[in-house]
This record gives sequence, structure tokens and C-alpha cells, in this order.
Amino acid sequence: MLPRREVFPGVIEMNYQARRRLGCCVYLVFDGPDWALIDIGYQDTLEDIVGLIRQLDFRLADCKYLVATHADVDHVQGLKRAKELMPQAKIVGHPQAGKLLEIGERIETYAEITAQGISIDLPAVKFDEFIEEGDVLKIGKRKLDVWHTPGHAPAQLSFRTGDLLFSGDNIYRDGGVGNIDAHHGSDLPAFIQSLERIRDSDVTWLLPSHGPIFRRNPKQIQKTIDRLESYLHLPDFGTCAVDWPLLDEWDAELVKGFDASKA
Ligand SMILES: [Zn+2]
Repeated sequence: MLPRREVFPGVIEMNYQARRRLGCCVYLVFDGPDWALIDIGYQDTLEDIVGLIRQLDFRLADCKYLVATHADVDHVQGLKRAKELMPQAKIVGHPQAGKLLEIGERIETYAEITAQGISIDLPAVKFDEFIEEGDVLKIGKRKLDVWHTPGHAPAQLSFRTGDLLFSGDNIYRDGGVGNIDAHHGSDLPAFIQSLERIRDSDVTWLLPSHGPIFRRNPKQIQKTIDRLESYLHLPDFGTCAVDWPLLDEWDAELVKGFDASKA
């Protein structure tokens, strides 16, 4: 048996456990024999992760949930195989993520990024239960409160337990955020609201879906919100913007005409 490297009591993160980077963060939450996984990562790393879980002395038959924070391929590609290994575990996530994964949708999940030559396998998988804002997942006596935090993706969920928030792709330790992309269903005003909610919450720790765990820092989150607010009025993220004030300035100049001596 391997020693369990808990990042917090009852929480193991598989990259930290392995002391090397496997992919997205895969959180194992447990209480007594019961456990669940928040995201599963790529299919390629699934055998390693399941092997580690066995060596940590968890029984595969005791896995209650396979949770999808959202439907991006790097978070969920291994779900189908994981369900084959742990048929009793319920695959749960937001209904919109369930809709994409049931048909193995490829664009909104980033399985297919044609312009960059990215085309990877995404096995279709059916969710056992849909979860939404206000639902509670129970793992032994531990409760995970479901937060719907759309913005990066319409289906993005976060999970609160005690002073921890499994915060998905909302924000990372360097202040970066999950990809903003119209083809992905990103929504800047919703993203800002999700970040405000996290900023104003009383959780102490953010456990993101990529990169290291970090302390919630309202000032840092505000800096990120300010950046996203600027994108609302800039063309950087195309149709994710709500307006572009430069067009009004341009309209006025078009009426007056261009005068190089005054430009
Ligand atoms: Zn991600």
C-alpha cells in the first residue's frame, strides 16, 4: 500500500499523489471507504490513475461518483473506460455537459480543433444523473455542494465542501482563467458573475482543475475580473464581447472625414 498524500483531510489530488504531472487535476474525495473522483482526465492516464487508487487501498467497488466539472475532452476522455471498470459509480455532471458527451460532440469539447490539426478520440458516454446549482453530493458523511459557475463553458460546475472549493476552470493561481471562446459557449458576463461569487465567498482554498492549489485572494480575483470586464468592450474574444466603443468613435470620424493633420 502507498501512503496517501492528502492535500487536505479526505482529499487526494492524483498529480500531487504521483508527484508528477499526469494532466488535469483529478481530485479523489473520500470519507471512510466511500470515495468519488472529480474529473478523470485523458484515457491515456486512466490506467495509471486507477492503479494508484488501488495502491492507496481504495476499493473500486466503493467509488460512488465520477464527477464531470464540464465536458472538455482533457477532463472527461477517460470517463467511458472508468465506468467500465467501476460500473456502480454514477457519472454526474451538468445537463448541458451530459448532452455533449452523450453524442460525443467534438467541437464544444475541444476534441476537434481543425485549424490546429487537433483531432482526438472522445468516447461518447451517458450520464447517470444530472446535477445543478443547489444539489448536494454525499460521499460518506462528507457533503459537496454543487455550484453552477458558467463562463468558461455553459456546463462548468464547482463544488464546495467546508472551506474548500473545487473551482474547475474558473481561475488558476496565476490569475489566468479557462479559455474564453465563442465556439465553446463561453459567456463573459456569466464568467464575471461566477468569479464575483468566488471572490465574495468565504472559502479559504481554491482547488482548480489545472495547476497548483491556492488560497482565495479577493484582490487577485478582482484583477482577473477587471481584465475580463475590459474584454466585454474589446474585440479580443470576438462575439463574446458585448460592444466595441471604437466603432462609435469611427462612426463620428467617418462623418467628419479623415484629416491627417489632426490625427
Ligand atoms: Zn480545463
